[in-house]
Amino acid sequence: MRAEALSTREAEGEIRVFAQYERDFVEEADVVVVGSGPSGSVVTYELAKAGHRVLLVEEGPPFTPKDFRIDGNVSMARTMREGGLRSTTGTFMPVMQAICLGGASLINSAMCVRPPKFVFDDWSTRFDLERTTRGDLDPHYDAVGEFLGIAPTPDAVQGRRNMLFREGCDALGYSSEPVPRNVQGCRGSGECFTGCRPRAKQSMDISYIPEAMKLGARVLTSLQVQRVLGTRRRVWGVEGQVVEPFTGRASHAFRINARLVVLAAGCMATPVLLQRSGDLANESRQVGQNLQFHPGCAVAGVFPDEVDPLFGATQSYHSLDFLREGFKLETMWSSPAALAVRTPGMGADLLRHLGELPRTVIWDAIGSTHRSVGSVRARSEGLDPVIRWSLNEDDAKLMLRAVHVLTEIFFAAGAEKVMPGVHGLPEEITSTLGAQAIGDHPIRPRDLVMASSHVFCTTRMHGDAAKGVVDEIGRCHGFDNLFIADTGIFPRCPSVNPMYTVMALAHRQAQAIREQI
Ligand SMILES: Cc1cc2nc3c(=O)[nH]c(=O)nc-3n(C[C@H](O)[C@H](O)[C@H](O)COP(=O)(O)OP(=O)(O)OC[C@H]3O[C@@H](n4cnc5c(N)ncnc54)[C@H](O)[C@@H]3O)c2cc1C
Ligand code: SF4
Repeated sequence: MRAEALSTREAEGEIRVFAQYERDFVEEADVVVVGSGPSGSVVTYELAKAGHRVLLVEEGPPFTPKDFRIDGNVSMARTMREGGLRSTTGTFMPVMQAICLGGASLINSAMCVRPPKFVFDDWSTRFDLERTTRGDLDPHYDAVGEFLGIAPTPDAVQGRRNMLFREGCDALGYSSEPVPRNVQGCRGSGECFTGCRPRAKQSMDISYIPEAMKLGARVLTSLQVQRVLGTRRRVWGVEGQVVEPFTGRASHAFRINARLVVLAAGCMATPVLLQRSGDLANESRQVGQNLQFHPGCAVAGVFPDEVDPLFGATQSYHSLDFLREGFKLETMWSSPAALAVRTPGMGADLLRHLGELPRTVIWDAIGSTHRSVGSVRARSEGLDPVIRWSLNEDDAKLMLRAVHVLTEIFFAAGAEKVMPGVHGLPEEITSTLGAQAIGDHPIRPRDLVMASSHVFCTTRMHGDAAKGVVDEIGRCHGFDNLFIADTGIFPRCPSVNPMYTVMALAHRQAQAIREQI
């Protein structure tokens, strides 16, 4: 490639954005990290702290509060891949993936949850992972938790819709607790999904990334990595194109030469990148396989009095009581857009429902649907994936059971009616007696209305190189300088929200890399 390096002065201490690239270029680094989500940002910071020259490369742009759009649809079009319309084939399910500095931490609900011990025991035994117990990872969770100030959500910003969940759980004897979150000074505005305008949420772009830059890390945005450069045993960098935010229009070409490459492009993008790079690191044939989700089902409840659904931290109460059974229950934000999606009816009926919105609350369940496995592969062109995934019939029953439990919690909290949002069930259920119909319903996978933003396993970790893509520290089997850090390395879905775990694993990975280079 005929190219020049960006000048040091241009790049020093600033995040490079699209308008600043004027020519093709080549850069050098000790480590190049691809993707600035929670995993990539933690690795970048930890390696910069150890004195390495780290280059963090991100396809999306940085956002500031003036760039956020409170309208959910507009916001999704700007911050998410495929305009927020990405979905699975097989069983239809929308799948949300970020494209912005900070990855999904910019638009997520900031829930930071450690999976219980049994999840890691299961991982260890099924996937020959000897050093991935909860005890092994606790020091890494502690380090990340301290850095981000992760703490349980205080009552002052819970709001009525979150507290009602607690009341319902208490009445039925289910445990529930305030969600620990990576926020500082949360005001309970409930708009995490479209970007935290008060900047209380400690998304990566205002936490790990600026701290890494103070330590010398460089951050180049609007760079789409299209290929990892290497042979079957060793890599030496990445190359791709500068792309314009929101349009994806390509301008200049770039290459980054590095002694070590960390792929943190997310569970959908990393396997596609490997496939596009001559099927790199795929001797096991597991790249892009084993795809799992936490599908989510949302249930709406209408209360007799106003519940001020717009106030309250986005998702700040949850119950871990049903984790062993296979699902987790949470409160959910209730923005007008989210409420409208859950509002049934047409004409006068729709108007009546809309009039009820000030009394309406949404809660959701996410399922550990281990039996529902899919795959990700590159489309004929570009880096967007074809995502095949079907909900297994027993997993559909599991999700229906979760909807049933949520409905019972609504009635225990005093709801006058519940809208379960399942095809084949009544639109509105008005009593616990009526709720029994949910349990008896002969559910089919396509009857459930689901969405998911938790994706796993497409480059899974396995102690046996024949059965997985990376080892316990995220190093690709057969390589000494190619690592993967994102949620693709989870061997199974973790049963709870994944961000804290992917950061803890990234923290451990950085420690291992530090000892290597
Ligand atoms: C709306 C939403 C709400 C969520 N809420 C929570 C929550 O409250 N708690 C929780 O634990 N989890 C939550 N999650 C999930 C959590 O945010 C993700 O699991 C986590 O962000 C995954 O981190 P990651 O580093 O693996 O990938 P990502 O966060 O997806 O980051 C990957 C980054 O890589 C970039 N990238 C991809 N391809 C390329 C390329 N070719 N070149 C350069 N860059 C590239 C992407 O643009 C992206 O910025 C939520 C997710 C969403 C979408
Ligand atoms: S609830 Fe509001 S203030 Fe709190 S972190 Fe989310 S967007 Fe920020």
